Amino acid sequence: MTRMTLQDTLSRLINAASVSSVNPAWDMSNREVIEHLESWFDALGFRTEVLTIPGHPDKFNLIASAGQGNEGLVLSGHTDTVPFDEAKWHSDPLKLQERDGRFYGMGSADMKVFFAVIIEAIREVPLQQLKQPLVIIATADEESTMCGAKSLTDLHRRLGRHAIIGEPTDMKPVRQHKGISMESIRINGRSGHSSDPSLGVNALDAMYQVLGEVIQWRSELQQRYRNQAFKVAFPTLNLGHIHGGDNPNRICGQCELQFDLRPLPGMSLDSLRGELRQRLSKCLHDADLNWELTPVFDGIPAMETPRDAAIVQAVEQLTGAESGAVAFGTEGPFFNSMGMQTVICGPGSIEQAHQPDEYLPLKHIQPAINLIQSLIRQFCL
Ligand SMILES: [Zn+2]
Repeated sequence: MTRMTLQDTLSRLINAASVSSVNPAWDMSNREVIEHLESWFDALGFRTEVLTIPGHPDKFNLIASAGQGNEGLVLSGHTDTVPFDEAKWHSDPLKLQERDGRFYGMGSADMKVFFAVIIEAIREVPLQQLKQPLVIIATADEESTMCGAKSLTDLHRRLGRHAIIGEPTDMKPVRQHKGISMESIRINGRSGHSSDPSLGVNALDAMYQVLGEVIQWRSELQQRYRNQAFKVAFPTLNLGHIHGGDNPNRICGQCELQFDLRPLPGMSLDSLRGELRQRLSKCLHDADLNWELTPVFDGIPAMETPRDAAIVQAVEQLTGAESGAVAFGTEGPFFNSMGMQTVICGPGSIEQAHQPDEYLPLKHIQPAINLIQSLIRQFCL
């Protein structure tokens, strides 16, 4: 095949729309992106596998690998983008446009460019000489359900030891982020005429107790956990939605509260949910009603890769930047749970991600290529 430039590669990836969204009206398949990547990595001499994702018939992951062994380097990215509003763009979001030293396009920073950079970086790598494997992973639905990364963990397969996820971090290494969960507390009391309280059980009265308990729990969590690597150094819990009742003269039969919780590394979502459940049981013990605590979605665990991990050390040294923490979630915790040590580091900035006129500064490209080539030399050759 004639050699494609990085611009050609990125242009094709951007042109292959791959929105993922929990709103079915927006959601699309990522098939076209996966097919491009499969054919390119196949042509470069990689073994490629396209993996289906149980329960998501139009979504696919790709694993492309070269070399054998238990250690090795994993380069990973997500194939999807968030939904976009074409009217707010100054150029076609699905057409790569170069202007003012930038590539504009949907996914130019977050994060289709990372695959274009990988392809550019590995063209000259002698795959037959790899002493440890080089594995490329492309996932589905990072922007919505993370079903791609989650289904990789279900493979129970060792994919590598050292991993980079090329999310846009301005080429600065990140080894920590908070987790996120969204929870719903639903109280079912019994409605009745307001003139006689004994005719019902008021769910709003009970929610008053619950709100007090949740706010108390929040302040205890914030006393217990601190991490100065984060701009907001404590776990947050935001009361975001409440709905209950219908009329002033009716005993409120039902009330629902939703909140989000952003735990620091070291706080497990399961144990937090368990702790809250226990507190609610105690607080609503005497009330003649039923209640449920349910996740609004599965949640993303917090991430922490040790500072002394070889990949953290290597990326810090090669970028000249100290590894830090960010305020957004990634697939990193799922990769870490598969036995990888993962650093988030890639071209582009999170500030341009998820925005109209998303762009990638061209000056990030060569440093990103250099970083990948150096990591391959260090971990695979
Ligand atoms: Zn991203």
